[in-house]
Amino acid sequence: MHNKTLAELKIGLAKREFSSVELTRHFLDRIKSLDENYNSFISVTEDSALASARQADTNLSTGEASALCGLPIAHKDIFCTNGVRTSCGSRMLDNFVPPYNARIVDNFAAAGAVVLGKTNMDEFAMGSSNETSYYGPVKNPWHTDCVPGGSSGGSAAVIAARLAPAATATDTGGSIRQPAALCGITGLKPTYGRVSRWGMIAFASSLDQGGPMAHSAEDAAMLLNIMAGFDARDSTSAERKVPDYTATLNQDIAGLTVGIPSEYFDEGLNPATEQAVREALAELEKQGATLKDISLPHSHLSVPAYYVIAPAEASANLSRFDGARYGYRCKDPVDLHDMYMRSRAEGFGDEVKRRILVGAYCLSAGYYDAYYNKAMQVRRLIKNDFESAFNEVDIIAGPTCPNPAFEFGAKGDNPVAMYLEDIYTIAANLAGLPAMSLPCGFVDEKPVGLQLIGQYFEEARMLNIAHRYQLATDWHQQSPAGIQL
Ligand code: GLN
Repeated sequence: MHNKTLAELKIGLAKREFSSVELTRHFLDRIKSLDENYNSFISVTEDSALASARQADTNLSTGEASALCGLPIAHKDIFCTNGVRTSCGSRMLDNFVPPYNARIVDNFAAAGAVVLGKTNMDEFAMGSSNETSYYGPVKNPWHTDCVPGGSSGGSAAVIAARLAPAATATDTGGSIRQPAALCGITGLKPTYGRVSRWGMIAFASSLDQGGPMAHSAEDAAMLLNIMAGFDARDSTSAERKVPDYTATLNQDIAGLTVGIPSEYFDEGLNPATEQAVREALAELEKQGATLKDISLPHSHLSVPAYYVIAPAEASANLSRFDGARYGYRCKDPVDLHDMYMRSRAEGFGDEVKRRILVGAYCLSAGYYDAYYNKAMQVRRLIKNDFESAFNEVDIIAGPTCPNPAFEFGAKGDNPVAMYLEDIYTIAANLAGLPAMSLPCGFVDEKPVGLQLIGQYFEEARMLNIAHRYQLATDWHQQSPAGIQL
């Protein structure tokens, strides 16, 4: 059963080839026997999963099945789950059991999905390798000496290792697309405001966006149908109708213009990755799309602008973790100040502290204009680049990441080298555009991804192109050696 996509499992359940309890048990057994190799789950919620599977089987038999009735998924441990620890990959929240569900967690519950557990991640979603988690690194199922990417490395690894057919994730600067590329799966970051951030622990509020990870674009469309929609509790939520993302998957892509930004094929791009991406572009051309060279001239400023804006917002968002209300509190504080100081010093890891320091510095009185305001001006230039590009093209395509998965520790002592792994993903967050990553080949036997960046709220078109590409290729159907199908 674990070799099937979500769409195939849905058919299997409807035809009663297996029950939801059987399906859920199958994945729980796999997690039990295999996850010690990957460390991709922080919590496994076996009892509640089986209870929802039983309920789903009843609903399936009475014909009251909702969209994802009985289908197992996993949630990134950044989404609050009522009664289930939500750690955000941090010692700070190791003891935090939320009294409420994130909006998207409620959406999936209403759709009948079965939650297998919460996935490992970089601490507070800061990282590109999953090495910053308090719970230890996640291993890439394709190559366990290598990182799975981050910050949603756990969600990507559970899918690649076939411990769950699909998972939720979040993307602030590439955290859905980069691990999707490195683990050979499909991941989509929606337009900013498309998916509610309510109950999703904040990293950088103007960039964070939740989205789906799965094997295929078709599955991602099924998941986005459940995740997308207006939420009055999120002040940046978009009040727009949600189309049925599965309805237009199969449209012909002939006649579409695909923009190829020259800046995404610069000297930093691994030549073998480039070749895989060029072959993917040739497939789109074969299906009747026109490739058009474009320029996004401020691309080289996206990493520096991001590493001012994201830490600035993080330093404000993370000020709430002070040991007073919830989360980690140091032992025997002598006074209030000591409690704040030591709770934060002991509760946060190094990367989180680095971001708080950078952010607080950029926002401080003497530097605000020089750094934060300047970065916000650059952000506007990046957005303008995309706006002019979309006057000429329907979609933008290029690599998701410059390189395939790297070995643990390879960039550990050089934060800037790590930050550059996101060089092609960050701009979409700064502009708020939807973007996705699809498996498009292998380099050194490790998967690499094709990135699509769409116009605002045009997730349906992006999914359509992705689906047509996946009908003609089988990269998304491959699985790591040792994963029995
Ligand atoms: N890797 C980027 C960072 O470390 C992006 C992380 C994310 O998208 N959450 O900030």
